Amino acid sequence: MPELPEMEAWRRQLNDPVSAFPIAKAGPAHIATLKTFDPPLDELVGRRFRGATRRGKRLLFPTDDGELVLVIHLMTSGRLKTLKAGEAAPKQPAFALEFVGGSKLILTENARRKQAGVWLYTPEQAAAELEHLGPEALGLSVEQVADIVRSDSRRLHALLRDQRLIAGIGRSWSNEILHEAKLSPYALSTELTDEEIERLADAINSELARGLELRDRGASDAKAYRIHHKLGEACDVCGTPIAQVDFESHTIFYCPTCQTGGRTLKDRRMSRLLR
Ligand SMILES: [Zn+2]
Repeated sequence: MPELPEMEAWRRQLNDPVSAFPIAKAGPAHIATLKTFDPPLDELVGRRFRGATRRGKRLLFPTDDGELVLVIHLMTSGRLKTLKAGEAAPKQPAFALEFVGGSKLILTENARRKQAGVWLYTPEQAAAELEHLGPEALGLSVEQVADIVRSDSRRLHALLRDQRLIAGIGRSWSNEILHEAKLSPYALSTELTDEEIERLADAINSELARGLELRDRGASDAKAYRIHHKLGEACDVCGTPIAQVDFESHTIFYCPTCQTGGRTLKDRRMSRLLR
């Protein structure tokens, strides 16, 4: 799933193309993708975006008249594409925008279950919908991280992914951050020492900055990640084979030497717990 580094790299790439020309056509939109109907999508036609902004994992495209905000969340498998005039577009995009002159912004989702979303809001509606999000993950101070981890007793991997506490981190970058911080994904947030909190805060910033720099240069997942989806590969710090464990509804990757004192983490899938 695209997270803060991926979405911020996208934001930078999209800022100019989406604001270069007014919108000529809004849609089509897959019925499962477009989540709002008021204001109607047609309201975008004739307006121009001011550019692209971002909040957590969402991209926001405010119109330059200040009246509307288009919000896009790619979820797991949504992908964005910009097309030049005349370039062939996918046959059934989840969502499409065409600009005056013929360039396009296309959202595709190659999955049976459509999860990616597009919302058209007034600025007031957008603010209300995004109000629940915590502070942006990149740029958090040690004090902010300390307040967040002490606010709720949670396993670190779950805490980092909770968008109400910190906005922008998902399963991939929480794996990378916890590996860099040498902390167990299962460690309880309220049991961290001051020194561990400092390491966590440093790792959040350094890993997201590293990710953003790589994604800006178009790096693939294999290049951007050092531990995520690297089961059995040697940890780049200590050489131990990277391990994985199922937790809640997904898979965590970790280094048993760097992060858990040599211990193997136990499966904590939701389905297991419910059995
Ligand atoms: Zn290691």
